[in-house]
Amino acid sequence: MQNIANKVVIITGASSGIGEATALKLAKEGAKIVLGARREDKLKAIADQIKAAGGEAVYRVTDVVKPEDNAALVALAKEAFGKVDVIFLNAGLMPSSPLSALETANWNAMIDVNIKGVLNGIAAVLPEFNAQKSGHIITTSSVAGLKVYPGAAVYCGTKWAVRAIMEALRMESAQAGTHIRTATIYPAAVQSELVSHITDEGASKGYRELYDNYEIPAERIANVVAFAISQPADTNVSEFTVGPTTQP
Ligand code: NDP
Repeated sequence: MQNIANKVVIITGASSGIGEATALKLAKEGAKIVLGARREDKLKAIADQIKAAGGEAVYRVTDVVKPEDNAALVALAKEAFGKVDVIFLNAGLMPSSPLSALETANWNAMIDVNIKGVLNGIAAVLPEFNAQKSGHIITTSSVAGLKVYPGAAVYCGTKWAVRAIMEALRMESAQAGTHIRTATIYPAAVQSELVSHITDEGASKGYRELYDNYEIPAERIANVVAFAISQPADTNVSEFTVGPTTQP
C-alpha cells in the first residue's frame, strides 16, 4: 500500500486484538511502530515479532489514563525514529452490564480509558501536529458509538463521546488549516480479548453468544487503518463502519 512505508505510527492498546493486528499489518507495510499498553510481556513479544520479520518497532509500558504516559510514548517515538506521523488511539475496555447492576467501578474504568485515554493521546500529539501542519489521529470507536444497546449504556456513552470528539477535531483542524487527518473506526464484533473482561454474568453470556455467531478477525480492522493511512496527504477518510456480513 502507498504512503505507509517509513511513517512513524504510535498505537495504544497494542498488546492484543485490534492494536496488535494493526501493528503487525503496518510494520509489514514498512511503517515504524511504537507500541503502548500495560502488559510488557505482550508488547515485547510483538516488537520482537516485527523485528524478526525485518521491521522496526519499539514499545513502552503505557497506561493511557495517565497523561504523562501518553507524553512519554510520543517522546519515545521521537527518540527512536525522530518524528510522529500517526497516532492510533485504540486502547479500550468493555466490561458492560445493565445500569441496575451498579458496576460503578467499571463505569469509571470505561470513562477513564475509553474517553480520557483518547483525550490524553490527542493532547500528547496535537501541539506538534498543529505546528508541523500534518499528522493523522485515528481512533477505535464502535458500532456502540452509532447506536445504543441495552446492557451497554456506559460503553455506548464512551464510544459516542469518541465520535463527538473526533468529529469536532476534524472540523477544528479543517477550519484552522492544519491539514491534520482524522479517522474514526466503528467496528462491530471482532475477535479479541475485549469480551473476556466482562464481569456481569448475564452480560458475559449474552456477549459470548453474540461473538460466537458474528465475529471477524482483528486483521480486518487493521486493513481499514492501513487504508486510511494510505490515502494521499490531502485526503481525509474520516469514518468507517466495519463488521461481519452476517451481523445485523
Ligand atoms: P482487546 O481487549 O484485545 O484490546 C484492548 C487493548 O487495550 C489491549 O491492548 C489492552 O492492553 C489495552 N488497554 C486497556 N486498558 C488500557 C490502559 N489503561 N492503558 C493502555 N492500554 C490499555 O480488545 P480489542 O482489540 O477488541 O479492543 C481495541 C479497541 O476496539 C477498544 O477500544 C474497543 O472498545 C474497540 N472495539 C472492539 C470491538 C470488538 O468487537 N472487539 C468492537 C468495537 C470496538 P493492556 O491490558 O496490556 O493494557
